[in-house]
Amino acid sequence: MVEGSTPWPADVAQRYRRAGLWRGEPLGALLRAATAEHGQATALVHGDRRISYTELDRWADRMAAGFARYGIAPGDRVVVQLPNVPEFVAVCFALFRLGAKPVFALPAHRSQEIGHLCRITGAVAYVLPGVHRGFDHRVLAKQVRSGAPALRLLFSLSGQGGDVIDLSAVDDAPRDFTGQDPSDAAFFLLSGGTTALPKVIPRTHDDYAYQVRATAEVLSMSTSDVYLAVLPLEFNFTWGCPGVVGTLASGGTVVLADDPTADDCFALIAAERVTVTSVVPSIAQMWLEAASWSEADLSSLRVVQIGGAKLQRSVAERITPVLGCQLQQVFGMAEGLLTLTRPGDGHEAVVATQGSPLSEADEIRIVGPDDRDVAPGEVGELLTRGPYTLRGYYRAPEHNAIAFTDDGFYRSGDLARLTADGDLVIEGRIKDVVIRGGDKISAAEVEGHLLGHPGVLRAAVVGVPDDFLGERTCAYLVAAGERPTLHDLKSALRDRGLADYKLPDRVEFLDELPVTPLGKVDKKALVLLADRPRTPVANQKG
Ligand code: AMP
Repeated sequence: MVEGSTPWPADVAQRYRRAGLWRGEPLGALLRAATAEHGQATALVHGDRRISYTELDRWADRMAAGFARYGIAPGDRVVVQLPNVPEFVAVCFALFRLGAKPVFALPAHRSQEIGHLCRITGAVAYVLPGVHRGFDHRVLAKQVRSGAPALRLLFSLSGQGGDVIDLSAVDDAPRDFTGQDPSDAAFFLLSGGTTALPKVIPRTHDDYAYQVRATAEVLSMSTSDVYLAVLPLEFNFTWGCPGVVGTLASGGTVVLADDPTADDCFALIAAERVTVTSVVPSIAQMWLEAASWSEADLSSLRVVQIGGAKLQRSVAERITPVLGCQLQQVFGMAEGLLTLTRPGDGHEAVVATQGSPLSEADEIRIVGPDDRDVAPGEVGELLTRGPYTLRGYYRAPEHNAIAFTDDGFYRSGDLARLTADGDLVIEGRIKDVVIRGGDKISAAEVEGHLLGHPGVLRAAVVGVPDDFLGERTCAYLVAAGERPTLHDLKSALRDRGLADYKLPDRVEFLDELPVTPLGKVDKKALVLLADRPRTPVANQKG
């Protein structure tokens, strides 16, 4: 197991192996096996590029050798920040084969997030998009490099120059890189967590191969499936639930969308006869509206998975009648646990619950504030452990001490209840995170940056209900002197290198932040205030 990670206890690991859940298969081998069976089939489609399994497999092999020639060694960490392009898939499989470990960053991340990821993982390389959506990541890379001593290599999707290497130059005669330990971390996902600095989640070959196989089985994925990757590939939901990896392991075709808009996605669904896709509720809502006027042929769709944020029943009810396919609700977390509604489930379960755990080996507890199990059907915090749920964040011993129970249950921070049929219903959360669309924003992280502004004395960030995004961020501030405008604050946060989706949507000033009897900022009161007219809010004291 890679240094800084927490292994499963030996007896538990042995149990998962004996039960055939962990099969000792490295992720790089999944593509190899699919290529052996379906070499000529189309693995990836992006725009007018169509890449067969044989081509993708060879590309990954050549790129693995190319990375090795540049000095990347097994065990090295490599931050990967690419949009939904075939290179993302090739880079990841190349690194899996080489035994180096991709660290997934979102395309929206900026110097704060990338710098943190590089420093915490000690990444030796950063794979970046070049200029993407008007933003020059090469400039960002140079800023980041000055604070990340291990970072030696920059690879860019488009363009070279200075010491940035074009990805197309990462190419060499294929070599055999064997000897990866399947119980070792294969790659790292980013937590949508609660702390001021995002936490890093190690996912092992064994645990992820199992997650991908099990989710593909639930959806009966086969060679005739075409998966549309709409959300960023770096999301666990898109990458492996079953997503890209599950589709490739099943011999199907992955179509990469540049944009989640209905215009783009409906055209791809019609042209490529897409059968499965996964989106967050706000995108589903956008698609439902568009479907009423669109003439695109969506008849190939068999399942739309919706997850990442709470799906309102009113939206859930419209999916099958309007899009003409099954709805699968997915509750998931990059940390592991997935619950899903199943194809045979009744209407009520599908529209009103987030389904049951993926694995029989998933263990779930719903507990009260005293950490004891609540009565059946009651709401409490969801704790979990299992064959694909982490036992510790990477290099985070202090946080791990509070994020896990002594016996290895992960404290999700989500409030949930179980129905009599064993389906999970997410009722809210106790963690201090805003879920805006499907994006997770740590209140503590944004508050820290707001406090860095000279005009801000105190700051509390809360999520306020929003019909479209589910929640938007509202920053309650106590000003230090003259009140900065929302525009000032946003540009200051942007200048500090914070991703755009974390910038507050709204700002309100108070003379003091309300506090609970225990002296903590009373965020519930702030959420309630957000719905009231502005004048009383601004005058509110203490
Ligand atoms: P992430 O690690 O970014 O995938 O975020 C995981 C978190 O997203 C969970 O802990 C929940 O708070 C939230 N989440 C994911 N799926 C759902 C869902 N179907 N309903 C409600 N919340 C969800």
